Parts: sequence; structure tokens; C-alpha cells
Amino acid sequence: MMKLTKSCPSSSILLALSERELKTYIKQKTGMSEAAFADIDWQSHERSVNTFKDGPHIFLVKFLHGWLPVGKLVSRYNPVKYPSACPSCDEPVEDSKHFLTCPNPERRKWHAALKTSLRHRCESVDTDPALLDLLLWGLNHWLQGTPIPAHRVPERIAHLLHSQNTIGWDNFLLGRWSRHWTTLQLQYLQRNHIEVTKKNHGLSWSSNIIRLMWDHCYKEWKTRNSARHGKDAEDKAQRRLETAHRSIRDLYDLKPRCSLQAQRHYFYPTVENHFRRDTDARSLENWLETYQPMIMQNIRHRRDNSDRRLRQIDDVFHLIRTVPPSNPTPTMAPRQRTPTLTTRPITTYFRPHRITSPTPTLETPTTTARTTSTSNNPTTTAPQPP
Ligand SMILES: [Zn+2]
Repeated sequence: MMKLTKSCPSSSILLALSERELKTYIKQKTGMSEAAFADIDWQSHERSVNTFKDGPHIFLVKFLHGWLPVGKLVSRYNPVKYPSACPSCDEPVEDSKHFLTCPNPERRKWHAALKTSLRHRCESVDTDPALLDLLLWGLNHWLQGTPIPAHRVPERIAHLLHSQNTIGWDNFLLGRWSRHWTTLQLQYLQRNHIEVTKKNHGLSWSSNIIRLMWDHCYKEWKTRNSARHGKDAEDKAQRRLETAHRSIRDLYDLKPRCSLQAQRHYFYPTVENHFRRDTDARSLENWLETYQPMIMQNIRHRRDNSDRRLRQIDDVFHLIRTVPPSNPTPTMAPRQRTPTLTTRPITTYFRPHRITSPTPTLETPTTTARTTSTSNNPTTTAPQPP
């Protein structure tokens, strides 16, 4: 961590402060212990971030902080439009870890490619073979979800295994390495009288390997996005249609929880009927954008009323006339206005259960006197049903 002194310029102080806040955030988010956090080689991490060139920086930021728009995250904004499930397997909730460990055979190919690349890269920069083995074992067991067999690790690097286990191998993939990695690598070079160069030790050595891991993670993210959104224009159009179909089917599953008026006004009689009417993704998406908020609001309204034991209007009145079909249109273009519940008197559609005493009406002071004077007029009694 950067040391603050009187000679530091203000920009350096601000940078150090934001760095401290970021580390506090990471510690809280990961639940890492103070000792594990202090054991991380933050200089290697920082060098890797600053020299990452194999993908957009926004990807890296989201990847490192668990903000990639995987199913679990985006479904919070709109669970109907954005499914939480993995696009490549049956996993119902795709989170940041599942994105990297999806069991789909096509998706798993990146594991082997990553390990092959790491082996080649490490061997090209005189990496300690014991460190290389531990690196590959650790990643492999994390990706497979199994613990690392400690007895396979030489005694001289046992403390490194313990340290990285405490930090976590998920954090290893995120470039949060134990500080013992670079120390042991330098000791290996010196012990074997290998010339120390810019590439085979220190920050250059560690950040070189970390960036390689992130490069593979970025490629896997693009593979995942192709699985979600399609590879070419035709595939993307098909995925878009499938997503709209899935979202609309989910909404039709909620149809029984809507009021009778909403069921008739917002939905077609069946979802198949809907798909025969609207055949392209754009029409379906427009329907979703138009009606989904109203449907969800209707369901929330009915649920709230139910919680407060308020009766629904359907419980009080019989539906005596069919509400005109809403005829949802595939575009947002103005359409011919059809008579609705808001333009016709309610008695056009409903008949009260029983006639009770006349409902008091709100009247202005100027009309009150006139009404009082004619209060005995029999024509001002209760309204008659149609
Ligand atoms: Zn999956």
C-alpha cells in the first residue's frame, strides 16, 4: 500500500484514499480475514490491472468485483425479460462462479485451453516447476469444486498453499495472489543459479501470468454471451425470439393471479393464440414492454388488497357483459381507441349484488341547499341496474 507523507501531491493522496476504500470494499464483499487480506500481493494485482490489454477495461472491472451481468444479477432488474438461468445448461441461477465452472462440455473447453496456455507461459519464463504444479492443481480443483490434496505439495511451499487457501482460489483467478508466490520464485532462480531477468521474477513474472488468466476469462465471457444472445445475425434473431417467447409464457403463467378485467384486457385467450398473432420478436417485445408493468402492478395490487382483507371488485359485482378485446398491437403506434371500462359506465358491465341505501354523494355547498329542498323527490333514490 502506498505510504502517505507530507511530500505527497494531493492527487496521490486522493489515489491512496480511493485505494484504501476499494480494499475495504473488497474485504467486506469477499468476507476475507484480516490476515488473509494482508497476505495478498497487491502490487502484482495493481500491475496486472494497469497493463491488461486483452479486453475492455470495463469487463475487467466488472469481472474483478463480481458485477458481470450474469443471469442472477440482471434478473433482479426484470425477472421476466432477463432470465436468471444459465444459457448453456440446466442451472436455474447463473452466478459469477457458474459462469466460470459451467459443466456444459463446450463451455468446459476453456479449462483445458487455460491450463495449456499457463504451462507454456510459465515454462517460457523459468517458473519453479513446484509453483507451476501448485498453480495448475489449485485452479483445476477450484474449477472442479474439489479440495487440493495437500500431501502432493513439497514441504518448502506448504506455507504458500496454506496462505493461498486462506485467501481463496477464486481470488487467485481474480489476481489476488499470496505474496509468497514471487518470493518463492526468486528463491528458485537464485538456488538454481538461473539468471534473473525482467521477465522471470517479481511483478513482471506474476502480472504476466495473471493477465493470461484474465485473457482466457474474457474469451470465455464472449463464448457465454454467444450462448446467450447467438453467434451471427440469424442465430441472434432466433435467440431473441426464444427469449421473448419464454418471457411471455412466464407472464401467461401469472394470468390467473390477475383480475378478470386485466385477464381480458391484457392477454389473448391463450399464449398459443398470442404467438399466432404476433410472430416476430419485435412485436412480442413491444407487447412485453407495454403490458408487463401493468400486469405486475395488477398482481401487486390484488395481493396488497388481499393482505388487507379488502374485497376485489369482482367479489362485489357479477360480470354481466364481455369486455371488448383489447386487441394489443405489435407496435407503439397510435391505434383506434376502443371502448373500455374507463369510457363506459360501470353498470354496463356489472350488476351490484344487492341494492342498498343510496350512496351519499359529494356536493358543493351551493348545490346542497337545492338538493335538500328536493330530498323528498322519489326520482332521487337509488340507481337502478341496467
Ligand atoms: Zn451452465
